[in-house]
This record gives sequence, C-alpha cells and structure tokens, in this order.
Amino acid sequence: TARTEKREFQTEVKQLLHLMVHSLYSNKEIFLRELISNASDAGDKLSFLALQDDSLFEGDGDLRIWIEPDKEAGTLTLRDNGIGMTRDEVVANLGTIARSGTAEFLRQLSGDQKKDSRLIGQFGVGFYSAFIVASRVEVFTRKAGAPASEGVYWSSEGDGQFELGEAELAERGTRLVLHLRDDEKEFLDSWRLKSLVRKYSDHVAVPVMMREEPAPAEDGDDTPAPAWEQVNAATALWTRGKSEISDEEYQDFYKHVSHDYSDALTWSHNRVEGKLDYTSLLYVPGKAPFDLWQREAPRGLKLYVQRVFIMDDAEQFLPLYLRFIKGVIDSNDLSLNVSREILQNDRTVAALKAAMTKRALGMLEKLADNDAEKYQQFWDEFGAVLKEGPAEDYANREAVAKLLRFASTQTGDAAQNVSLADYVGRMKEGQKAIYYVVADGHRNAVGSPHLEVFRKKGIEVLLLSDRIDEWLMSHLNEFDGKPLQDVARGALDLGELEDEAEKKAHEETDKQFASLTAEIAKILEADVDSVRTTHRLTDSPACLVVAEHDMGAQMRRILEAAGQ
Ligand code: ADP
Ligand code: MG
Repeated sequence: TARTEKREFQTEVKQLLHLMVHSLYSNKEIFLRELISNASDAGDKLSFLALQDDSLFEGDGDLRIWIEPDKEAGTLTLRDNGIGMTRDEVVANLGTIARSGTAEFLRQLSGDQKKDSRLIGQFGVGFYSAFIVASRVEVFTRKAGAPASEGVYWSSEGDGQFELGEAELAERGTRLVLHLRDDEKEFLDSWRLKSLVRKYSDHVAVPVMMREEPAPAEDGDDTPAPAWEQVNAATALWTRGKSEISDEEYQDFYKHVSHDYSDALTWSHNRVEGKLDYTSLLYVPGKAPFDLWQREAPRGLKLYVQRVFIMDDAEQFLPLYLRFIKGVIDSNDLSLNVSREILQNDRTVAALKAAMTKRALGMLEKLADNDAEKYQQFWDEFGAVLKEGPAEDYANREAVAKLLRFASTQTGDAAQNVSLADYVGRMKEGQKAIYYVVADGHRNAVGSPHLEVFRKKGIEVLLLSDRIDEWLMSHLNEFDGKPLQDVARGALDLGELEDEAEKKAHEETDKQFASLTAEIAKILEADVDSVRTTHRLTDSPACLVVAEHDMGAQMRRILEAAGQ
C-alpha cells in the first residue's frame, strides 16, 4: 500500500460514529446484517450494470459473499465480488454523509436522544456499524471493470481520521477486515456467525459462503482449509410464498430495504398476474425519518424487473402523500432497460402507481380496522403527510378520508384520534353536516367562540389546528354523503337542530337590533363585509366569520408566508 494519506472524516460522520457505537452497543450483532446488506447491494448494482456491459463480470458472474473468521489474527473478513468502489467513491461513501439535514438534526439532539437507538438508527446504521465491534476496519476494494492497479485501501480506527491508499487487487469487489475488540471475540465463532447469517440475512439474494466445519484436527499444520458452503437460503424474500415467510423474516427484510433500524408497523405482500404482472411488498415504518419534510429526502420503492435490481428510491410508483411507504416492486412488464426518464411517462408505470396507491391505502385501512393502537402510532408519525392526500389524489380522496383522524370536542384534548366515521356515528338526530373549526393551535380551536352554540346543543365539532388542515378541508367537501361545514364560515344554519321557538326568537332579535347592526356596519365599513346578529354565541359578545367562499385565515397566512 504505497502512497497512503491521512484524511479527516466529515464532522457529521465523527459525531454519528461516536453516537452509534454507544447507542447501538446493546444490539451489536446487527453489524453483520448491515455489512452483508451492503455486499448484497453491491452485487445487485453490478448485475444491473452488467445488463448493458457484461464484460464487467470479468468472466465471473456468480455473485457471492464470503465470511471468514481468523481466530489467530482476531479478524473477521467479509468479501464480496460486487461492484466495488473507486477511490472517489470510497472517500464519498466511507467518509461523509450526504443526506441533507443531518448536521442540523444531530445538533438538535438532546442528551437522552443521543442514547436513543431508534433516533440514531434512522440514519441507516450501515457501514459505520462495523466500529461497534471492531477497533480497526480495513477496506480493500476495486471497481468492476477497472484494472488491478486501481485498487483502493482504506483503514480507520473510527476515531476521526481514516487512511487512504492504493492497492493492487486482482479480484474485483470489496473486502472488509474487521479487527475485533478483545471483548468481541464471540464473532470469531463460526457457529455463532452462521446462526446470525441465517437469522438476519436468509432473504439476501446473494449466497453467503462460509467454511464447512473442519474435521477434528490431525497432527501437523498442513490440513487444507475446509470447503466453502452456502449458509443462507439466498432467495429474494418477495419471490417466496407468504405462508412460508415468518414475521421475523419480513422485519429483517424491511431493515434491509429501508435502512431503518426499528421494526415496521405492518406490511402488504402481493403477487399479481393478469393485465399487470408484478410482485410488491410494501411496508409502513414505525417511525418518521428526521427528513420527512425535506424535499430532497430519499423516497420511493426499490425497483426490480424480473428479479433484477434496477434502482433504489424509484419515486414514480407512489404519490407524494405516501412518501413514507418503503418496499419493493418487482415488475415483469417493464423492460430491463428502464431508466428514471422512462419511468416518468410510461403507461405501465402509471398503472403500477395506481395499483401501489390502492395497496398502500388498503394496508392502512386494514391496520386501522385491526389494530387501533398501532394505527394511532402510525397517525401520530405520518398523519400530517396523509392529509396532503385529498388535494394530490382526488380520485382516492374517499379512501384517504376514511383514514383521517382529528381532535374533537368529544374529548377536547389534542390527540387526533377521531375518525369521520366515528363522528358520523355520533351525529344528532336531524344533524345534516359534519362540523369543524380551524384555528392556529389546538388551544385556540378549543377556545373558539364559534363553538359556543354547539356546546349548548351538545353537537360534536372537529378541532383542526395543523398547518395543513384548511388546505385539506378545501379539498374535502363531504364524507359519507354529509357535507363538511366550517363553523366559522358564512351564516350558520343548524337546520332541523333548531326548533321553531328558537327560529322565531332569532327573527325577533334580528328585527330588534337591525338599526344597531346597520350602525356598526357603517363604522366598520372598511374592514368587514357585513354585520349581523347571531345565535351561535352564548358567552362572547361578538365574533368574526369568514364568508362562505372566502379564503380562511390559516390559508391566508400560509400564502402570505410564501410571499403571495
Ligand atoms: P447505505 O447502505 O444505506 O447506502 P452504508 O453506510 O451501509 O449506507 O454504505 C454507504 C455506501 O458505501 C453504500 O451506499 C455504498 O455505496 C458503499 N458501500 C458500502 N459497502 C460496500 C460494498 N461492499 N461494496 C460496494 N460499495 C459499498
Ligand atoms: Mg448499507
């Protein structure tokens, strides 16, 4: 390894390395899953490129991952014959974190959060997890198709620096040498390793090879190393039948495709033959990633065509309001040559997107029906994203409406846990509309003077206070045949909820105060449209209402903030 140089990790990497080693230590064996996952991704990427240029296989198209412990040296070696990396790629992939917002997120972590494995895990523990068990990691890698002389050597103790150099590497792909810490020698035991491979990586499509158990030692040192054997099943999980797959396997596969560290909430696995021919496996994560609201955050499905990996983060198969869904789609209709450009306006892709959207919504509906607690967990993490649905996807607005949850005067607290169906089930005799109020913040919604008459009559009102709520409601006009009515809008007509006596009394009041309202209207001429008496207040003397078709206060503020 001539010409080595020392380099510093990017600051975020240093911080993350430190946090990771400490927060994930209690589940340290996952390093093996992560490194095998990378080796398998590397095989996928090579197969994909070799579709265009099979010289990249260099005569060896049998992709493999080899794992070899060396008890004497105290090292664990993982090798793959996947795509490999160039020097620049090594520096970018093993020295920086490209995901935007990372620095900001890390800075905001409190002391306790820094120990929360779920928070740290959302970065995709990845390659750096090697440092949980290793005091030094060496990487030898050579890109497929590059000459042996362009091999790269990388080495680090995970402290803040890494060493970078050249290496002559006859074999393409990547070899990692983990120098295990003294108290991590359990990972040199091949029984232990094999059981971990089966546990975490059975579904990885590339065969993972380890040495067969040696025959009892004979005298002399020159017994040849035992032959390699395949340890994992090496069939892509989604190609197997549902009934053969355990929940644990689904969860392990989830971690492989999502780069998430915690479990998924639920999943939906479907094989479809007919007009469209595909297999999909979609997951709902348990936790929102820190960059859920960032435009450039990675999203989309892992795309395979006829079992061949094509790309990560294929965004074209799901609408934006379902951007939290993770998973795989394997199509038999698309060509192996598809590119991101082709995906943009392909009719099959449009049909697949419609199908995936239905699946995802169906999966959420099922979760809501079967497990209210988990659904609430989903809603608390992703509800605000789902609220973009009716505006983005008019055709599915009813399916989305069923999934919505709101705070309500029924409970009065801020938890969003009332569905429109719940509300409808509690509607009063003679009540025609679903009533809601929109305000800046839950407390303002609860305290809204518009609620007074509803309280008096015992009518439930939904309390909306998310930034997006008015936008949502402007695209949702009815549910279950009942109009959604903003209580702060227009003249309030409670219809049959009022009795004759009340109606009479109101007409009387109108007459009685006609000259007063006219007088006030004149004074406020520049600011208001009209002034009238109202029966919607019981305690407050007056309130402002928005005309039926005017923009609400919340929308106005959003547009103002956007400079419109
Ligand atoms: P992720 O897998 O989520 O991208 P990792 O930290 O696991 O994050 O890996 C970072 C990057 O390093 C990968 O995206 C890949 O480009 C590169 N990499 C890691 N391991 C390998 C490998 N065995 N072969 C080729 N590239 C690799
Ligand atoms: Mg990885």
